[in-house]
Amino acid sequence: MQNNLKSKITQSKIPFIFAPVSLFISSINSGSNGNCYYVGNSKDAVLIDVGLSCREIEKRMLRAGLSMQKVRAIFISHEHIDHIRGVEVLSKKYNLPVYINEKTLMNGRVKLVDERVNSFLDEEIIPIGSLNVIPFFKSHDAIDPHSFTVECDGIRVGVFTDIGRVCEKLISHFSKCHAAFLEANYCEEMLEKGHYPYYLKKRISSDHGHLSNAQALELFKTHRSDSLSHLFLAHLSKENNSPELVQELFTAHSTFTKVIVASRYEESAVYQVGNIGVEATNLLGQFALEI
Ligand SMILES: [Zn+2]
Ligand SMILES: [Zn+2]
Repeated sequence: MQNNLKSKITQSKIPFIFAPVSLFISSINSGSNGNCYYVGNSKDAVLIDVGLSCREIEKRMLRAGLSMQKVRAIFISHEHIDHIRGVEVLSKKYNLPVYINEKTLMNGRVKLVDERVNSFLDEEIIPIGSLNVIPFFKSHDAIDPHSFTVECDGIRVGVFTDIGRVCEKLISHFSKCHAAFLEANYCEEMLEKGHYPYYLKKRISSDHGHLSNAQALELFKTHRSDSLSHLFLAHLSKENNSPELVQELFTAHSTFTKVIVASRYEESAVYQVGNIGVEATNLLGQFALEI
């Protein structure tokens, strides 16, 4: 990466220096026991889903060196408990607006004061400070589920979990991402041979269930952009998948993309994603790609 950076800088004819645009991302937790993803820049941040308790989110963010003071809003993808568990307490404690659509609010029986509730439309561009958040519909067994892409000055990070099938919208959003949290929920063989009851196996593998490793890998191989620097494999099943398996499977095809397995037990490191600006010569020494 440093070599690429230097060659880009060498090609630059612009003599002055300005700070490159970048986003900081972290998985606070990922899986059926709770989902929470942090995306932000140096000023503003959002949390996509808050499926852990407020206290646990605070603890993990502190450990990761992330500040709740930068968080400007919470976005809720759907009403399953592993995505909304902490929303009432966290939004109240930090007086944060919650972007949750009406049907999800009703179905999730989430109690929020009206002033904090913000609904959204499919593909609406929602400005949150210096960030834009774009929700788009996904296929999942919830009342009105949405995925989100977070954008800042052309750098895009997608949060794509709890998806039954790869639809055109997902392909369109994924293919523009510089980083993505992408569900790789289950190994088809492990699910088939595992002990889950038949109806549950059907539900998970249906168009309204979860993405298999093979579906996620196909999306990654076929539609990733040349700018996709980080891929988080997310929402892994505890029973029907293994972190080592997916790490190996995706790394074999990763070339220029860093593959990270998002844990269901702890927060990830914080990764910096973005255009390492061609004018960033003097920042090289202090510009860590990962922090
Ligand atoms: Zn979930
Ligand atoms: Zn779900």
